[in-house]
Amino acid sequence: MPENLDPFEIALEQLNKAAKVMKLDKQALSLLSAPKAILEVSIPVRMDNGETKVFKGFRVRYNNARGPAKGGIRFHPEETLSTVKALSAWMTWKTAITNLPLGGGKGGIICDTKSMSVGELERLSRGYIRAVADFVGPEIDIPAPDVYTTPQIMAWMMDEYETIVRRSAPGVITGKPLENWGSLGRGDATARGGMYVLREAAKTVNLDLGKAKVAIQGFGNAGQFALKLVTEMYKAKVVAVSDTKGGIYLESGIDYNKLLEHKKKTGTVQNFPGAKNISNEDLLELGVDILIPAAIENQLRGDNAGKVKAKVILELANGPTTPDADEIFHKNKVLVLPDFLSNAGGVTVSYFEWVQNQEGYYWTEEEVHQKLDQKMTEATHAVLEAAKTYNVDPRTAAYTVSVKRVADAMKYRGWY
Ligand code: NAD
Repeated sequence: MPENLDPFEIALEQLNKAAKVMKLDKQALSLLSAPKAILEVSIPVRMDNGETKVFKGFRVRYNNARGPAKGGIRFHPEETLSTVKALSAWMTWKTAITNLPLGGGKGGIICDTKSMSVGELERLSRGYIRAVADFVGPEIDIPAPDVYTTPQIMAWMMDEYETIVRRSAPGVITGKPLENWGSLGRGDATARGGMYVLREAAKTVNLDLGKAKVAIQGFGNAGQFALKLVTEMYKAKVVAVSDTKGGIYLESGIDYNKLLEHKKKTGTVQNFPGAKNISNEDLLELGVDILIPAAIENQLRGDNAGKVKAKVILELANGPTTPDADEIFHKNKVLVLPDFLSNAGGVTVSYFEWVQNQEGYYWTEEEVHQKLDQKMTEATHAVLEAAKTYNVDPRTAAYTVSVKRVADAMKYRGWY
């Protein structure tokens, strides 16, 4: 996504493109072009030095036609209402693509967690929940972690909410520690969900994953588990990995445990024994079968998309491909598996956590994996089918599937 564009404008542009392809009813489009509700709050926090500082926070409920809103809370110094609105729209499409009985929402607080003590963070987290308590709830809107928010923060928020409502309500928030009724299988859910998408998509382009070469950009939660799982589950060979400092290339394949240890010791993937150092740009243009962007946005653009040799791109990162790159990939027959399908495993297991909380009955890790597989497989086929039906790229196809599901739910409710 072009950095200079307003994130919510981009979200609307994507929606409008899909609406045109699927000939969406004008009233439905107008309902889907704005959030249902926005709450802006001021949160007073007593800082360690005794002074009170007031933080600004948001919670946006984009759409709840399919169920309670769902989406994370970001703590970020440059958080804006426009970003939160855009993310809440994308959450609406993400929950719809995996057919979860949920809508889309998102929250944020403008703050710099790195300059705050643990006590200040706890007071801010509890203050946020006190401010939005009437706006969230297990049957209303269910937050989760996102950028710079953690399972510990979710536990404080759940505790504060339960104190306010005076009853147990673990389903008010997901991404909690296992000790506070989080779900097994949440840690690697995003990458694992992506693996199921990859397996199904590979069949349609006759790609043998056991013989495939893979390059992964980013070595955080998504990238690390992608390396582990693509080698463990499919015996694919990951020949390149990168982080902010640059990348490495190893023709014989990169071992997950050894690279993890190397990164822990040295702080980077670079200078891995036996491997050649490469740049992040080089990594994107390698002669591999599968490219997995798992870092940040705007990595595949009009200026480099033509040089990408991979046949399949699995977008674990949010927004790694700009609209002009999308067009080049579509023309070059590169199969781009779009972000809100490929990385929906995280929110899907968050949904499983909520289901378990509501039932008070907890599943094994195997059950979580099996149910995740089913959800991701169905979603992938729905997207690939729509791409054929409308003869469009998979991203636009994914939009048509999600938008139709939300629009139909609104129609039967009598919203238009
Ligand atoms: P993370 O912070 O754990 O890791 C990000 C990684 O990217 C780090 O290794 C960092 O060094 C690397 N990186 C940053 N800038 C880079 C650059 N210019 N070139 C190469 N590497 C770079 O984050 P994460 O949770 O793994 O998230 C990665 C992406 O996946 C984000 O776009 C995020 O929104 C998306 N995502 C994550 C989840 C999840 O559950 N973790 C869910 C959905 C989407």
